[in-house]
Amino acid sequence: MNKKVMVVGGGIAGLSAALELSQKNIQVELVEKSCFLGGKAIGFTCKATDKCQQCGACLVEEVLRDVVGQSNINIHLRTEIDSVVKNGKFKVKLKKSDSIPKEDKVLTGFSKYNSPYKVVIGTPQDSKDGVNIDELGTQGELDVDAIIIATGFTPFDPTARATYGYGTWENVITALELENMLRSEVKVIKPSNKQRAKKIGFIQCVGSRNKEFNSVWCSEVCCPYALRMASMIKYRYPDTEIWIFFIDIQNVGKNYLSFLEQINSEVKFVTATPIDIFPDKEDKVRVAYKDDIEDKRILEPFDLVVLSVGIMPNEDNKVLSKMINIDLSEDGFFREIDLMEPNLTSQEGIFLAGTTTGPKDILNTISHAKSAVCETLTYLGGKK
Ligand SMILES: Cc1cc2nc3c(=O)[nH]c(=O)nc-3n(C[C@H](O)[C@H](O)[C@H](O)COP(=O)(O)OP(=O)(O)OC[C@H]3O[C@@H](n4cnc5c(N)ncnc54)[C@H](O)[C@@H]3O)c2cc1C
Ligand code: SF4
Ligand code: SF4
Repeated sequence: MNKKVMVVGGGIAGLSAALELSQKNIQVELVEKSCFLGGKAIGFTCKATDKCQQCGACLVEEVLRDVVGQSNINIHLRTEIDSVVKNGKFKVKLKKSDSIPKEDKVLTGFSKYNSPYKVVIGTPQDSKDGVNIDELGTQGELDVDAIIIATGFTPFDPTARATYGYGTWENVITALELENMLRSEVKVIKPSNKQRAKKIGFIQCVGSRNKEFNSVWCSEVCCPYALRMASMIKYRYPDTEIWIFFIDIQNVGKNYLSFLEQINSEVKFVTATPIDIFPDKEDKVRVAYKDDIEDKRILEPFDLVVLSVGIMPNEDNKVLSKMINIDLSEDGFFREIDLMEPNLTSQEGIFLAGTTTGPKDILNTISHAKSAVCETLTYLGGKK
């Protein structure tokens, strides 16, 4: 088929869609706003203990390696779409991205783990083995036959939950930062003194299931990632004490009971939403919560507190939705026309893939992206 498809977003959704299309001999233009491919998940750690915990993280590198090797995928890093006009085909204007997402900074130190796909960066000085950040970015116009939007999500910004002190107290980090840390380090480090954190508290549902932030949905991925990370940390360092503050536990898979039984013996679960976090004189952070049974306020000290941040709509959605003339749902994610048609939009020829429509883990993101490709092929008149 002599057709060309633009995939916007180079996370696992965009990579999976691009690879699937290229294997069907479709020319792909892969447009990625940041300076690297793989999205959030390229920075995730392997959570294996003595066995694989099926977190899906290694799939991302596998797909990335395949994408980079395909001659019919043009990769446009540090690039965004500027305008889209439909005139039978789609005329898409591309521009160099000025706003480098925050994750680029987080991932800078991990570029060597992206090897041999050295599309990752820092400052030009840091990038002697890689690509000069200033040289990235495509400007110009492209004609394409269809577009897949795979622009993903934004992790909840916990500075909005001011009483947790994220950004103020060094030893309060997000789960995304813990994922990145464990990718480069074997142990969990306490940022204030670079020593191993021996007592760690995870706080679940940070930003999710919350009316105050208009984000009432369950983010679906944070119970599984927190429990898998806790289990992996206990496996590596059995003397680590881990507490998990939670409302209830969701989505831990089909071996739910045996997994919970095992993890129950490894970590302490506390059914409470902490109110406050603050440092003490011993360089600990104290988590204040209410013990409902004893009806009293407790202050529990930790070396490190990890905020299990949820999946929020991509900050670019509003601008993008106007540009491509597709509605957003009330929650701010892209709206599929029908729950039975999870990749179709109100615009023929424009399809949705991955967390751009709402929370999904890596495996569900890949299958959503593959079904977006099936719909695209049908639209292009090809065979599924
Ligand atoms: C802390 C944390 C831990 C997690 N751990 C796990 C886990 O262990 N296992 C698991 O299965 N899932 C996990 N998840 C979920 C996982 O992150 C998602 O399933 C996955 O990242 C979804 O991929 P995506 O491609 O849809 O989105 P993203 O990863 O968000 O990728 C989107 C891409 O699009 C790019 N982009 C954004 N806007 C634009 C634009 N305007 N133009 C061009 N490009 C753009 C972004 O730069 C990015 O590269 C975790 C999530 C969080 C928050
Ligand atoms: S990255 Fe996850 S899925 Fe892959 S081997 Fe490790 S635990 Fe298993
Ligand atoms: S997956 Fe767990 S932590 Fe995440 S929002 Fe749902 S219940 Fe809360």
